Amino acid sequence: MTDVTKKIYLASPRGFCAGVDRAIDVVEHAIRLYGTPLYVRHEIVHNRYIVESFRTKGVVFVDNLADVPRGSAIVFSAHGVSPAIRQEAQTRELTIIDATCPLVTKVHREISRFARLGFTILLIGHKRHAETEGTMGEAPDQTIIIEKREDAERVQVANPHKVAFLTQTTLSIDDAKEITTILRERFPHIVGPKRSDICYATTNRQEAVKFLAQKAELILVVGSPNSSNSNRLREIAAGQQVQAHLLDTASDLLPKWLEGISSVGVTAGASAPEVLVQELLGALQQYGFHDIEEIRHTEEKITFQLPEILAMQLQRDDS
Ligand code: SF4
Repeated sequence: MTDVTKKIYLASPRGFCAGVDRAIDVVEHAIRLYGTPLYVRHEIVHNRYIVESFRTKGVVFVDNLADVPRGSAIVFSAHGVSPAIRQEAQTRELTIIDATCPLVTKVHREISRFARLGFTILLIGHKRHAETEGTMGEAPDQTIIIEKREDAERVQVANPHKVAFLTQTTLSIDDAKEITTILRERFPHIVGPKRSDICYATTNRQEAVKFLAQKAELILVVGSPNSSNSNRLREIAAGQQVQAHLLDTASDLLPKWLEGISSVGVTAGASAPEVLVQELLGALQQYGFHDIEEIRHTEEKITFQLPEILAMQLQRDDS
């Protein structure tokens, strides 16, 4: 009798996006240039492993700028901050090192442009997510958060001729499409961004996990519970009628998930480091999953430059 071949399908692209890569680089350079303790507002990216590694290097994560001594350097996380937080940092004479992802900054610009033009902005996103709090802060009196289809069905605006929608960068593409369809039906004059606010990395990882779900009986997503895009990957896989779980690390893997399973799909959210994916592959090997096939969906070549304040100082150090 021959053993059933146990196979792993590994998504590509997976894991770090350009915005997360940049945010991590920012903190590493800032530690070198400004020393420790280095203050970072909010978790630099939503991943426990990354946050804990930085803590051990002397990074102090704060949610409140009052906890940062006057005159210190402060790094803003990849999720961005509201203008009020920026103002508070200036008032406290903090040196701002901004690791906001440029694709989040794009949404900030759009929201403030629509606000200046007198629009009501329907911001599709999760109310308590750091990114949404930051973008909404651009125009709090003109912005209404739409979290789910019921909100889209009920929302009222002062002038249906002056209404715009924008989205958080890490939403489910399908959920966002459903909500925008409702909004377009209710407000035929609604306007939106020229290009989708859902970023390239979110889009690629969601499409890749759908491919995996066609091949694998079980999908494992490496990512932390507070990572929006990692949660969406798990939900999308589950929506394809495949058993799907989110794991912070390989130690979260439960043997019972693998009972009777011969094919596992593995992917990782945009804030999850590759080292954790490799650890999970190692753990799966112990259960007989040795055969790994990478399922390449698309190639990503996007990179973002460091913030000017760091780039200039690094240049000075080099010369
Ligand atoms: S997930 Fe998208 S928006 Fe968020 S940091 Fe990565 S590239 Fe930027």
